[in-house]
Parts: sequence; structure tokens; C-alpha cells
Amino acid sequence: MNARSSVGRLAPSPTGILHLGHARSFLLAWWHARAEGGRIVLRMEDLDEGRVKPGMAEACVRDLAWLGLDWDGPVIVQSEGQAAIDAAVMELLDAGRAYPCVCSRKEIEAAQSAPHAGQEKGRYPGTCRGRWRTIAEAERASGRPAAVRFVVEPGAIELEDGIAGRFASDPWTEVGDFPIARRAGAAAYQLAVVVDDGRAGVTDVVRGDDLLSSTARQWLLQRALGLPHPRWFHAPLVVDAEGRRLAKRSDDLSLAELRARGVAAQSVVAWVARRSGFAGAEPAPASTFSRAFTLKNVPRAPVVLDRAALAELVGER
Ligand code: GLU
Repeated sequence: MNARSSVGRLAPSPTGILHLGHARSFLLAWWHARAEGGRIVLRMEDLDEGRVKPGMAEACVRDLAWLGLDWDGPVIVQSEGQAAIDAAVMELLDAGRAYPCVCSRKEIEAAQSAPHAGQEKGRYPGTCRGRWRTIAEAERASGRPAAVRFVVEPGAIELEDGIAGRFASDPWTEVGDFPIARRAGAAAYQLAVVVDDGRAGVTDVVRGDDLLSSTARQWLLQRALGLPHPRWFHAPLVVDAEGRRLAKRSDDLSLAELRARGVAAQSVVAWVARRSGFAGAEPAPASTFSRAFTLKNVPRAPVVLDRAALAELVGER
């Protein structure tokens, strides 16, 4: 592929403040895009009405800029692209690739956000498949707002990941027909991410490997909508000493808190760089590492943020 034409993306959800785990994922995505000589966009994924918190989008932008990252073009606000997502829902319904569903409200609500590790619900048995012809009919008959589910056919899908390697995934047994809209005008994560990556011409998706299990669903949606598949790179997460993924609730490890404690952005950059292929990296601006960066050198094991690793970070002022 032509390296110059690559397009990456930073896709934070403004549901909490960014922590070291985000810093690592976003640095990797940014270094990869800049090493390729490609473009990178910033998309604020604000569709989850229930979880988006006021002021967080601004805080995300501030933290990313503090880290020394930049992006090409204005910030893309996901909720402003609702019309394109609605059009995709209609297209899939019209093509018989999706259907209205009036069951399991909880699961459908959860579908607004990216399902990070351990947040996946059970398999949907297909109760509403073939029950209604239109959303209006489903809503009239049930007296409830209808969600929309994508029709998943049986069979495993084999995909290639630039970090995780070749992997097989079987959405039919893992999740079944999954939600693509919670109700009219309320898209679910899987579809929103596919439509928005398609609109921005994203060629390279670099993100945490807790989203690896979503990839096959996104691949199916891309195929159904006639969108090109990007290259995927799922990087191991930053975990605590017990191996748990950092949560947005771990405020003590937030970039804002580290900054307040006097930790310099360049120290955060170096800390991540040392765990991403640059052994012995010294504090430096993020851009220092972009030219020599390659995802091939990113270790395949999670980054452990234990006491020693934290001391290394905060001791380095
Ligand atoms: N906005 C999503 C999240 O922060 C990430 C989506 C993606 O990278 O595909 O969980």
C-alpha cells in the first residue's frame, strides 16, 4: 500500500478523563500514523448519551495536546454525523441485512459503547428475527421503541491483525445478531465506528486489544455496506499489578492527576516509549519517536503498571 495515503484515527469517548492506558494507545496510533507519513484524525465518540460527561471532550483534547499529539483537520464529533449512521441503518434494513427488535433493553442500551473486555453480553438467540417487516410495525405491535439488529450468518471469520497476528472469530456463536441502533436515531457503537471510519477514509485502526473481539463484527458491517476494510492493529493494554485493565475511574493515574503532581508530558511519553520498542528512551517530545517507530517492535505482552513502574514515572520530573 502507498504509505503516504494512510489515515489513522484517535477515537476517545468523552465519558471520563484519560489515563496512562489511553496515553499509550493514542501514542501508538499517532506514532504509527506519523511514521507512515500519513494523516490522523481525532474523533470524539460522544454517542453514549448516558455516559458522556460534560467537559470531558474538552479535557480529552487538552490531554492529547499536552502529550504533544496533533491531528489533521477539525475534531470530528461523532454525534454530528448521525445522518450518515441513520442512512446506513436504513440501507441495511432495506437490504434485509438487519431487522427491528423489541427485546432485551439492557443489552441494547449497553451497545452504545465499545464493549471493552468483560463487558460483552451473552449471545442473542434471534427472537425477533423475521418477526416484523418495519420499525413502525414492530413498535405498533409491541408498544415499545424498536432497536435494530444486524443479521449474522453462521461461520468463523479469519482476520489478520498487525500486532495480534492471525485470529479467528465467530460472531454467530459469540454474540449472534448484534444491535446496530438502540432506536431510530440512536446508533450503537459497532455501526457508528464503521460508518465514521468509512467517512474519514480510515485505513489503519490502532487501538487497545480489548476491542479485538469487536473487529469481526465491524468487518461484517463493512462488507455489508460496501466499505473497505482497514488494517487493524490491536495493542496490549496497560494493566495494574493484578492484571486488570485500568478503568477511567482510576483517577490517580489520570493524565490530569499526573500533571498536577508535576510529572512532565515528556516523562509520560518516555515511559510509554520504553514499553513500545524504545528501550532506554529519555524524556522527549512525542514527535521525537515518530520517525523510527514501528508497531513491529511493540511487545506482545500487556504493560504492567505496578509500584516500580509508577515510581519510574513519577520520579522522573
Ligand atoms: N471510543 C471507543 C472507546 O474509547 C474506541 C473505539 C475504537 O477505537 O474503535 O472505547
